[in-house]
Amino acid sequence: MSSPALQQPQWPDRDRLKAVVSGLEGLPPLVLAAECDQLKERLASVARGEAFVLQGGDCAETFAGTTADAVRGKFQTLLQMAVVLTYAASVPVVKVGRMAGQFGKPRSAPTEIREGLELPVYRGDAVNDIEFTAAARTPDPGRLLRAYHCASATLNLCRSLASGGYAGLRQVHAWNQDFVAGSPAGQRYEQLAQEIDRAIAFMHACGADPRELGAVEFYSSHEALLLAYEQALTRTDPRTGQAYDLSAHLLWIGERTRDPRGAHVEFARQIANPIAVKIGPDAAADDVLDLIDALDPDQRPGRLTLTTRMGARRIRQALPPLVEKVAASRSPVVWVCDPMHGNTVEAASGHKTRNFDDVLDEVAGFFEVHRALGTYPGGIHIEFTGDDVTECTGGGHNIAESDLGHRYETACDPRLNRGQSLDLAFRVADLYRSHLGPGPGA
Ligand code: PEP
Ligand code: MN
Repeated sequence: MSSPALQQPQWPDRDRLKAVVSGLEGLPPLVLAAECDQLKERLASVARGEAFVLQGGDCAETFAGTTADAVRGKFQTLLQMAVVLTYAASVPVVKVGRMAGQFGKPRSAPTEIREGLELPVYRGDAVNDIEFTAAARTPDPGRLLRAYHCASATLNLCRSLASGGYAGLRQVHAWNQDFVAGSPAGQRYEQLAQEIDRAIAFMHACGADPRELGAVEFYSSHEALLLAYEQALTRTDPRTGQAYDLSAHLLWIGERTRDPRGAHVEFARQIANPIAVKIGPDAAADDVLDLIDALDPDQRPGRLTLTTRMGARRIRQALPPLVEKVAASRSPVVWVCDPMHGNTVEAASGHKTRNFDDVLDEVAGFFEVHRALGTYPGGIHIEFTGDDVTECTGGGHNIAESDLGHRYETACDPRLNRGQSLDLAFRVADLYRSHLGPGPGA
């Protein structure tokens, strides 16, 4: 028996919860088991050092944010980042949205006090509303159904964008149109897009017109936090008899719920999806080996991703002992860097923020550690939006702490805006190229 599930809402109306769960059980899955297997294959190629994962989206998706513009903006930014990495680093990029299901949030305290009033903390739109009133903060099971429908609408648009011609490489300029003029990152992108045009024209002139240029593979992911929702969308695959959580292609377990004997790990053991686990700076190597034993005892490449989130100041000391022990165990995990969650600080204005240079420095540390140990830096996991928000400081437009109030819209953690995301993609492409270059002694 595993211990009780952490981070679950106190649903006041258990009968309503039961009714919602049985409603969800009767609804169609959002993804197919075969697609989850295909992502596992892609991640296996990452484990072998042949591809790079780009995973990202909002910290917390919201129902109000489920609009065509917002979803397209995120999808388009992810595509632009992927194109920069594919072209500038010459590596295939596995594109995974932190989208279409990221509606639940783990929190550090169960309640929040404002001016003497204590209310349940906001746990994501799938649970309650962010507004600070007793009614809004009361967990409402009906929200799980709304989360399903918003996830469905989001994924539907992403699937159309991925396959309907919009994502084809001939559109590299179109994705940038509303953006290029005012932005240094947009201008740098435009140059790269011109080079891609020339490469495509060259291939075309040679008689090659590969189908791969006309569409992209896009996968969805979120934290498997709210177990009632995840269990309700878990189905047995008739091909193999195995269970899959068909709410998303990839599910991850957060830093707060990754106890190897806890309920979240127990749930993940039972599903055949690719799984990721967040690993913070205080994790001991033996904790990580326990997680590997629990989640990937058969060492199947692509099954398990370890997403480290150490903070720029700690990654160079905290990561090497983990990577060394895991490498010695010969476990074929994918290593991904989340350079966001270890770098959150509070600005003088009270806004939660992250500095672009810290984000970049953590990614640089990640590459350094893997290079020193001869292991493969498999990807990045970021929080971003396609909108021009002012939530993280620094980057091309050098957003200052005093700018944070201009457009601070996140429902939870601060996200990179579109320019900062593109900036990051160029810098990561540089790091990737030099990672593959001659070693320090060469
Ligand atoms: C998150 O990804 O939003 C999150 C809460 O991360 P972590 O579990 O790494 O703290
Ligand atoms: Mn977050």
